[in-house]
Amino acid sequence: MPDTTPASLAPVDAFFGGTFDPIHYGHLTPVAALARQIGLASVTLLPNNVPPHRPQPEASARQRLRMVELAIADQPLFRVDDRELQRETPSYTIETLETLRKERGAHASLAFIIGQDSLLSLYKWHRWESLLDVCHLLVCARPGYRQQLDTPQLQAWFEAHQTTDVAQLAMRPAGTIFLADTPLVNVSATEIRRRRHAGQSCDHLLPAAVERFIDSQGLYRE
Ligand code: ATP
Repeated sequence: MPDTTPASLAPVDAFFGGTFDPIHYGHLTPVAALARQIGLASVTLLPNNVPPHRPQPEASARQRLRMVELAIADQPLFRVDDRELQRETPSYTIETLETLRKERGAHASLAFIIGQDSLLSLYKWHRWESLLDVCHLLVCARPGYRQQLDTPQLQAWFEAHQTTDVAQLAMRPAGTIFLADTPLVNVSATEIRRRRHAGQSCDHLLPAAVERFIDSQGLYRE
């Protein structure tokens, strides 16, 4: 009898983008649960640049990268790819994914992980309808966000591409959306920065090594 557990299928190469200002357990815990659920061998974190017209991160690109490295140092599931931070200009997610697709060839399974809040407003992303041409989307639950997507067009697109069949993710290179049943972790980087500015502790919201780094750099203090 063939073994049909997800881990036995061809590997799904999964990436998780974010500003990570700072990285926290709302990023790490749901994604680790997703990895267990669908049998991902590794997840690559992709810290991103923020376009000039948007509010800028408080931490520098180098500090955000260092915080990611510290957060994952003892977690073999995670890797980091700093290609977006190496560039002078912000890159659109679709462009990075197209580059990753070229590197891997047409047949490899490629996935991009987002939180529920990102799915709701995906129609605001540059060339959002092309995302599924190059990858699958894996969506982690996030507390405080509704299920209904922001526009009828996005909702229809979601319904046309959603799968509940984990095997599809490994068998096809791209093209489906999988809503993962991940734990709800009520943490945001905004709340962590707010607490730090107010002089409140962030214990249990992010890894201790990251909090020590934040202290040592005097980050998120006015
Ligand atoms: P901010 O509060 O500054 O907007 P954030 O906490 O949302 O930041 P980002 O780095 O912007 O963190 O998020 C990167 C990705 O992680 C996004 O896809 C987002 O949806 C997801 N994400 C962030 N926090 C959570 C959470 N608590 N649960 C599930 N997904 C999350």
